Amino acid sequence: MYILVINAGSSSLKYQLVDKDTRELVDKGLCERVGSDDSFHKHGLDSNECVVASRLPDHRAAVQAVLDSLLDPRTGSISSLDEIVAVGHRVVHGGEHFSASVVIDDEVIARVEECIPLAPLHNPPSLAGIAACSELLPGATQVAVFDTAFHTTMPPKAYVYPLPYEYFEKHRIRRYGFHGTSHRYIAARASALLEKPLDELKLITCHLGNGCSITAIDKGISVDTSLGFTPLEGLMMGTRCGSIDPAIVLYLIETLGMTPREVNDVMNRQSGLLGISGLSNDLRDVRAAAEAGHERALLAYEMYSYSAKKYIGQYVFTMAGVDAIILTAGVGENCDRMRRMIFEGLEPLGIIIDQDKNALRGFERVISAENSRVKVIVIPTNEELMIVEDTLALLS
Ligand code: ADP
Repeated sequence: MYILVINAGSSSLKYQLVDKDTRELVDKGLCERVGSDDSFHKHGLDSNECVVASRLPDHRAAVQAVLDSLLDPRTGSISSLDEIVAVGHRVVHGGEHFSASVVIDDEVIARVEECIPLAPLHNPPSLAGIAACSELLPGATQVAVFDTAFHTTMPPKAYVYPLPYEYFEKHRIRRYGFHGTSHRYIAARASALLEKPLDELKLITCHLGNGCSITAIDKGISVDTSLGFTPLEGLMMGTRCGSIDPAIVLYLIETLGMTPREVNDVMNRQSGLLGISGLSNDLRDVRAAAEAGHERALLAYEMYSYSAKKYIGQYVFTMAGVDAIILTAGVGENCDRMRRMIFEGLEPLGIIIDQDKNALRGFERVISAENSRVKVIVIPTNEELMIVEDTLALLS
């Protein structure tokens, strides 16, 4: 029996099929450019991955293509859809309603719909994925796992913005935080690695990829996080600017004559590493250019590390200390140079990186030196596994 994990984006649908008992990954894939004429479907584990052009006008067609490929007698991995007992859906925005994963029913769907104005690019595809799976897999339990759920434990002083209070009360304008499933996973893994229960630990978890967020976790609960009302606040990211003086937005509109839509596009798609370097949002390209002497690439690189350093510093202070700092996602897991720059010069604070360990790649590991008071750990994230665990917990 299997659990299907679905992560539906605005024009994509990623999936994994996991054995319910062994947690083994038995199949995976990705539908890309859903809704376009040139959509395609990549499926199969790395050893026998194949890519097929496939007409995918919407998410229902994508789910149908996924199920067909899972059932394919030559390349698939199941012989009947009845073998899929449950589907775990990643849902980006659960607003204030959901502090944990839930079995999906009409009320849950209505609540996720209510959150569409807060996540217009993310919640509609999730709802489309849920509708398609409910229709095509009527016997399977559907579960929603929210990116926001882990952060519902934050205290009001961390989530209310210093605007007139009625904006919070009437319009629910507040910090929600995202990447919660990733932060929850790496915190749990860190606790296991350190052989210390979560409720005895102060952790700072850093999800550094194209999207970036840092979370302060005190005794296992999220007490503050860098992403806010939307996934734009906080750290400098691949194409997103993160926190800037909000008056810049008014200046762009009123003085430079830009439309709100243009400003939104600039802040979300043309800023960050891409905007500063003028080259790429991919840190590998920025790093190569910086090493070849490209000044703006070097500045982008320095700004990204400085931005992470500032948030880590804030949370060390607000939690009055930290036991371990954990790094994950594309940059956090893979880029030794970025990790070195983030922690450079912090030896007086008891944070000492062992550069030989820092150079190693590809598995969970402590990269701080033996004499470092604060442990620094790299943990590859696994949001899908968390979704499977939550789904199984709700099934039983
Ligand atoms: P997303 O937020 O889209 O899930 P990822 O977590 O996959 O992003 O991270 C993607 C980013 O990770 C890429 O843009 C790239 O900059 C970075 N990255 C991946 N591998 C490396 C590497 N070996 N060195 C530096 N950066 C890397």
